[in-house]
Amino acid sequence: MKVLILNCGSSSIKYKLYDDDQQLAEGLLEKIGTAEAQLGHTVAGRKKLVSVHEVLEHHAGIELILQVLVDPEKGVLTSIEDIQAVGHRVVHGAESFSESTLITPEVVAKIEECIDIAPLHNPPNLAGIYAISELLPKVPQVAVFDTAFHQTMPDKAFMYAIPYVFYARNHIRKYGFHGISHYYVSYEAAAMLGRAVDELKLITCHLGNGSSVTAVDHGRSVDTSMGFTPLEGLPMGTRCGDIDPAVPLYIMGKEELNLQQINALLNKHSGVLGISGVSNDFRTLEEESAKGDKRATLALEVFCYRLKKYIGSYIAAMNGADAIVFTGGIGENSDIVREMVVKDMEFLGVELDAETNRTKKRGEAADISKPSSRIKVLVIPTNEELVIARDTRRIAAAN
Ligand code: ADP
Repeated sequence: MKVLILNCGSSSIKYKLYDDDQQLAEGLLEKIGTAEAQLGHTVAGRKKLVSVHEVLEHHAGIELILQVLVDPEKGVLTSIEDIQAVGHRVVHGAESFSESTLITPEVVAKIEECIDIAPLHNPPNLAGIYAISELLPKVPQVAVFDTAFHQTMPDKAFMYAIPYVFYARNHIRKYGFHGISHYYVSYEAAAMLGRAVDELKLITCHLGNGSSVTAVDHGRSVDTSMGFTPLEGLPMGTRCGDIDPAVPLYIMGKEELNLQQINALLNKHSGVLGISGVSNDFRTLEEESAKGDKRATLALEVFCYRLKKYIGSYIAAMNGADAIVFTGGIGENSDIVREMVVKDMEFLGVELDAETNRTKKRGEAADISKPSSRIKVLVIPTNEELVIARDTRRIAAAN
């Protein structure tokens, strides 16, 4: 079955076309809303093609992507009718969605209701859904949510200690994100360990531009570091992660900042960029740290120390762990970060094989712990689009 996967952001659309589990084409349309939108399109086994277009909104962007997919030279489809289902990554499903779902008018209405708590993410996701409804009206569409996997968290894990009315009335609670990735790597980890996911306790660390860590107990998310928004938890590229909530109030008073300014400070100017003053990119931080830049080193230390503390707390919360899993751009590629995080955890039964950690091949999954390590340390490349493709296929076929 040929399935198109769309991940619509505020000014970009990522897409992948699958035939069953085989990827036929992928691409990224950036700078939507301008006359210089850039489309990078790659057909499996061929060179990437880059072109520039005027694309003022998502509908036009998706129209362009569909045209490219059927283009006799650049494309892979003979007709647009070959697309049998479309899967959308939807960031926020709040408490309405604990699994992927066929998109119906009722589902669209519920995703629209979530705009209130995900004002940046859900509107572009919906723009993609509206566009496909118009351009491919007969094709079934499926929504796969970033929050759904975490809906199994118990209330003691998701409740904030603020007046209960804000949960009851305003739905303020921890939701968690990156669920598609945490789900995918926990199943892959079970396969690597030769065991069923429902007999394992796993700690999955998705470390990328945004980072989060999840406690997966018997295949179910029981706690995760991101919260009501993706700002909570680990320090990230530019997000502050956990801080004393009095700090923004204090800064707002001192510096006379308004809501938008403090929001930008915590989301765009903090994290490892804020500490280092150098970069939000971990490759640059590692290079500068190696050259002796003290603040780049401090940023890496803060990031790794905070992740170590989360891992320790999740081992306590689950009364043990079978494996710690690293994924995402940093988790998959930075042996330095992995080593800084899991070293000196022998007390908990974590023993890193430093040599395997350093020499493991890029892009490949690996067990980087010693044979004697009670808690295994695994590196597993994530594949969120594959999860979306599989769910879309399964749900479209059943309806
Ligand atoms: P996103 O969260 O946007 O999906 P990724 O998961 O691709 O992003 O992660 C991007 C991050 O991965 C970048 O911040 C970059 O610092 C980091 N990264 C990529 N390759 C390496 C590497 N070889 N060493 C260290 N960090 C890396």
